[in-house]
Amino acid sequence: MKVRSLAGLKAATMACRECPIGEYATQSVIGEGSAKARLMLVGEQPGDQEDLQGHPFVGPAGKLLDRALEQVGIARTDVFVSNAVKHFKFELRGKRRIHKTPTQREAAACHHWLEDEIALVKPAALVALGSTAARSLMGRAVPVMAERGKWLEREDGRKVLVTLHPSALLRVPPEDRDEAFAAFTADLAKARKILKP
Ligand code: SF4
Repeated sequence: MKVRSLAGLKAATMACRECPIGEYATQSVIGEGSAKARLMLVGEQPGDQEDLQGHPFVGPAGKLLDRALEQVGIARTDVFVSNAVKHFKFELRGKRRIHKTPTQREAAACHHWLEDEIALVKPAALVALGSTAARSLMGRAVPVMAERGKWLEREDGRKVLVTLHPSALLRVPPEDRDEAFAAFTADLAKARKILKP
C-alpha cells in the first residue's frame, strides 16, 4: 500500500503485522521533525520510551543524539528523524523490556515503510545511524566502522552518511566516552552542510 501522508503512514504502520514485532509493541513510531527536511536521520527501531510515548529518539539515545546535534549546530526541528523499523522489538526480563535487534527479515519487511517516508519528506540526503539503518537505506550490508564518516550513494542518487547509532555510545566504557562522542559529532558535522550549504 502506498501512503500519501505522514498521518497515513502512522495509521498504516499501526495496523501493520507484516512481521511479528508489531503484535507486541504498544504502537508504531514513525519519523518526526520538519516534513520538508533536507536531511533525514534514520536509526534502528523505537526503544522502550519511544514505544510508550509514540515519538522517535526521546529516550537516552535520543538525548545523546540531541546533544550531538546541538554541538554541531543542527536544530532537531530542521531535520527529520526516523527509524528503519517502526515497532519496538524487545524481550521481557522480569518487568524490564530489553531491546532486541530486529532480524534482517524483520527489517526487510519494514523497509517499504521507510521508503514511503523518504518519498513523502524528499530529503536531499540521509544519515544512517548504525548498521540496520545503513543496510535498509543502501539495500546491502554496510560495515559501519569501516564506512563511518563517508558519504555513500543510493540507487535513487541520494547521499547517505554512515555513522554509529547513538545507543552504541552509551555502551562505551566511561573512560572512552568523550573520544567516542567527539568522533560521532565529527561524523554528524559532515551532514551539516546539507542544511547550510
Ligand atoms: S515492524 Fe514494520 S513490518 Fe513489522 S509489523 Fe511493524 S510496521 Fe510492520
